[in-house]
Amino acid sequence: MTLKVSNIQFVILAAGKSARFKSKNNKLLSKLEDKTILEHNIDLIEKIGFKKITLVFKDKKIIKNLITSRIELIKGGKTRTLSVKNALIKSKIKAKYVFIHDAARILSTDKLLKKLINEAQKNKYDCIIPFSKCNDTVVKKHENIGRENLKLIKTPQVFIKNKITFLHKKNNIYELTDDSKLMRDNPKEYKIRYMLDNGFNFKVTYKDDLEIFKNNLKQKTRVGLGYDIHRIQKIDNINHIKLGGIKIKSKIKILSHSDGDVILHAITDSILGALSLRDIGTYFPNVKINKNRDSIEFLNFAIKKLKSKDFRINNIDLMIVSETPKINLHYKKILKNLTKILDIDKNQITVKATTNEKSGLIGKSKFIACWSNLSIN
Ligand code: ZN
Repeated sequence: MTLKVSNIQFVILAAGKSARFKSKNNKLLSKLEDKTILEHNIDLIEKIGFKKITLVFKDKKIIKNLITSRIELIKGGKTRTLSVKNALIKSKIKAKYVFIHDAARILSTDKLLKKLINEAQKNKYDCIIPFSKCNDTVVKKHENIGRENLKLIKTPQVFIKNKITFLHKKNNIYELTDDSKLMRDNPKEYKIRYMLDNGFNFKVTYKDDLEIFKNNLKQKTRVGLGYDIHRIQKIDNINHIKLGGIKIKSKIKILSHSDGDVILHAITDSILGALSLRDIGTYFPNVKINKNRDSIEFLNFAIKKLKSKDFRINNIDLMIVSETPKINLHYKKILKNLTKILDIDKNQITVKATTNEKSGLIGKSKFIACWSNLSIN
């Protein structure tokens, strides 16, 4: 079934006070990865195909960075109830159905929205209420309340627009925490559908809630691949080369724009790859400022990106291909240094080395290369 949303208006309520969130800033502007809670919701709603979107706001900061040309803006009232009323009465949008959604509830997947759209298009209900079951024991004054009959209801809720508008206009009694109450009061008159949804539709009320959501949002395990190769030159005197961040005495020179540390370069690329952030050259091209630069700076840049996205290294598997120098002589030092830089344990890293059996340009000691394969979560 294709999703038909042209006859549906989507009202996002973003005029709340965030009193329990205990922060100077509006909770809807809290960042989860690179987007605010509000942007997460709007992006998903637009991705589904909704074009008739109304945003109810009070705080001007809410709309400051939004591309509002696509969205109808309506000033919220003193209470949630008045905000919905404003949206329904003042909106210029014509639609058969209206979704009403609290912006503090983060829509993390499109599953629930798709289910609601499909259900609305059946043309059978005046109101569709998503709910989840209560799995905890509920107690009131020492007594258990039977949880079998409890429903934890959520938003977005779907309504026949003219019916819910009529009820909101008439309502002078209730301070509503959800809009279905106006129809639930009269279940004989209105066709109400409770729709079970155990998906993750999470309401951010307290600051700690954000952490829970971040963990859910994060894609679990990712992998990255890095490869680097540099030309080497045999020289007569002893020189210092850099491998794995360690200075090694050698009778070769590694030719490179930076310090030529193939191991750190490969690791940097594998981290950036795992984060879908392209490669080292994107951030550190061969320009003057990067000339002879210490590769630890490149790696630290990637590690910072990794941490900012709340990931850590699961394990890393390195393969150095080199005829000269013989890596095995320096293996322990390199391993120790890498565990320190990457802040991981020894059991999370393997440093392997092989020669190229004298074949090809690596085998003829013209090049040194390194592969890095890592997983993060
Ligand atoms: Zn390199």
